[in-house]
Amino acid sequence: MATDYDVVIIGAGPAGLTAALYAARANLKVLMLDRGIYGGQMNNTDAIDNYPGFTDIKGPELGEKMYQSAMKFEPEFKYGDVKSIKLDGDKKIVITDSGEFSTQAVIIGTGADHKKLGVPGEEEYAGKGVSYCAVCDAAFFKDEDVAVIGGGDSAVEEGIYLAQLAKSVTIIHRRDQLRAQPVLQKRAFANDKMKFIWNAQVESIDGDENKVQAVTYKDKEDGSIKKLKVAGVFIYVGVVPQTAAFKDLGILDEFGWIPTDEKMHTKVPGIFAMGDVRAKDLRQIANAVGDGSIAGQEAYNYIQQINDSNL
Ligand SMILES: Cc1cc2nc3c(=O)[nH]c(=O)nc-3n(C[C@H](O)[C@H](O)[C@H](O)COP(=O)(O)OP(=O)(O)OC[C@H]3O[C@@H](n4cnc5c(N)ncnc54)[C@H](O)[C@@H]3O)c2cc1C
Repeated sequence: MATDYDVVIIGAGPAGLTAALYAARANLKVLMLDRGIYGGQMNNTDAIDNYPGFTDIKGPELGEKMYQSAMKFEPEFKYGDVKSIKLDGDKKIVITDSGEFSTQAVIIGTGADHKKLGVPGEEEYAGKGVSYCAVCDAAFFKDEDVAVIGGGDSAVEEGIYLAQLAKSVTIIHRRDQLRAQPVLQKRAFANDKMKFIWNAQVESIDGDENKVQAVTYKDKEDGSIKKLKVAGVFIYVGVVPQTAAFKDLGILDEFGWIPTDEKMHTKVPGIFAMGDVRAKDLRQIANAVGDGSIAGQEAYNYIQQINDSNL
């Protein structure tokens, strides 16, 4: 079967970079596409202390190291926002905003993106005090009071990071306790700059025409409406899958994630999925890398089978 590539990998996060390493190392002709910078969500986090082998590494630095590891085996890396995949017999056509690529196998590693809070002021003040990325925007809030919305790992981890620069960081959480891992909770509670507002539902983000000035929230215990004066609001209330481009393939579950078997096969032969985009419980770098290694290897096995059957 004549195709431009053996494998097209969509997404250059930790899953994509690992799949590229495995597939290119197996001597396949590999194209890796990303609509942003390689490294994926790792670019949005500061310290990573739960990826084995690295006791003290920043997200973008780990992304750079993974990219260099993959590039050692010379996969191609191109910018491209994938819009859809067309099936043509055993061939797959990956359609991007900047061209089409035919391939025998596709590995989807498009990950997840932040969920919106959905309150008035969130869109209006995006970039004017509302942020989803502490690493990108913390410097704008030096010696200011900021709020972090959420109570999971990302909220607490990034809150601790913000506390290095901000005057104070108030975590506003809708429950009466954090969901974050105990080690992160311990660090947050021990940090003098960090405060907590429990059982609070954010109602709006307020300010003047230029920037955020406060968060308005409902105290769920007594129903009262309160205001907290802040210059910045960092939102970490969960993630949504980046799978709009794959809707027509019939491979998504009801929430938009991609179920696979343990070898990363989706319902469509020759289309694999890995990392955060899969329907799974734990979304972390370590298991994205694990998924990527399996997907890269399985793509190789799939292509071998197709080629053998065409002999
Ligand atoms: C703030 C924050 C802190 C975190 N901290 C940690 C931590 O300390 N430890 C840990 O283990 N995990 C952490 N995580 C989670 C970890 O980053 C993810 O689990 C991991 O990055 C998932 O890797 P992935 O390759 O599956 O997807 P992603 O990293 O999401 O990468 C997906 C890539 O696909 C690209 N893409 C998406 N759609 C398209 C498209 N249509 N066309 C082309 N490209 C596309 C994106 O641009 C992106 O580069 C954190 C996440 C965040 C947001």
